[in-house]
Amino acid sequence: MPAKIIDGKAIALEIREQVKQSVLERIGNGQRAPGLAVILVGENPASQVYVRKKKEACVEAGIVSKAFDLPADTSETELLSLIEQLNDDHEIDGILVQLPLPEHIDSTTVLETIHPDKDVDGFHPYNIGRLAQRMPSLRPCTPHGVIYMLNTIGETYKGRHAVIVGASNIVGRPMGLELLLAGATVTTCHRFTHDLAEHVARADILVVAVGKPGIVKGEWVKPGATVIDVGINRTEAGKLIGDLDFEAAAQRAAYITPVPGGVGPMTVAMLLRNTLQASNKHC
Ligand code: NAD
Repeated sequence: MPAKIIDGKAIALEIREQVKQSVLERIGNGQRAPGLAVILVGENPASQVYVRKKKEACVEAGIVSKAFDLPADTSETELLSLIEQLNDDHEIDGILVQLPLPEHIDSTTVLETIHPDKDVDGFHPYNIGRLAQRMPSLRPCTPHGVIYMLNTIGETYKGRHAVIVGASNIVGRPMGLELLLAGATVTTCHRFTHDLAEHVARADILVVAVGKPGIVKGEWVKPGATVIDVGINRTEAGKLIGDLDFEAAAQRAAYITPVPGGVGPMTVAMLLRNTLQASNKHC
């Protein structure tokens, strides 16, 4: 039976509307609008698109976004000093540094310089550590967005086997922590995993986040599974596709996310939620 589509775009729009209402309430209570600093170093075209979408979403939700578009030859010292300045800025609740950074800048140092209370991407070791210890504070946007989507379809997690393909710091690893927190039994696969097909075939919940189209074949999917495709890849013709063989997977899964219109919009919506959450802490 063909799978039901999980409409990330529609779910994200609802979240964005809720954030907008909460921002209006804050302002109604005499508080300032939340403020997000968005730092982009260099001119990576994909990053420019992501940053533009995030800024537009902020404006629509009533969040003040302050753009810092820096040249590609910005030094690490200059970037760190901007972040320190923003850490002390009382009108800025969230600081987002768009990744990837140019090679001469160490992204670990940069992400660790952002104050954990302003870390709206949720990548700081403090925030990852809190998630690992079952006390989440600011949570990484993409994995949290996936959990939000799974909750909307009534996912119960406990006794269910979740398999994640991909183990990056920004998606795969925190996705594992989120699913563990929710009560699922978690397997994480990565580039050194043998027999990927066998792991995938055991997944009640399958999350694929690799960045390689077709890495997971539709015929590997367990009948009735819930399938989340985080991958975003551009074909030579300019079309956006995920990591999964969608048509074949949709014949076996009970639920599936499309690309585009699945996880991508959720990431932006969770960023807005995190910025609101950070502002409520700062007042
Ligand atoms: P990454 O390159 O940092 O990590 C890829 C992971 O895939 C690694 O852990 C690697 O071990 C694993 N991998 C590579 N080859 C593999 C193989 N043959 N079998 C199993 N695992 C393998 O990428 P990332 O930043 O985690 O992003 C992954 C994908 O998700 C990309 O397409 C990216 O564009 C997309 N993405 C989407 C969103 C969104 O909002 N939808 C957000 C972040 C990333």
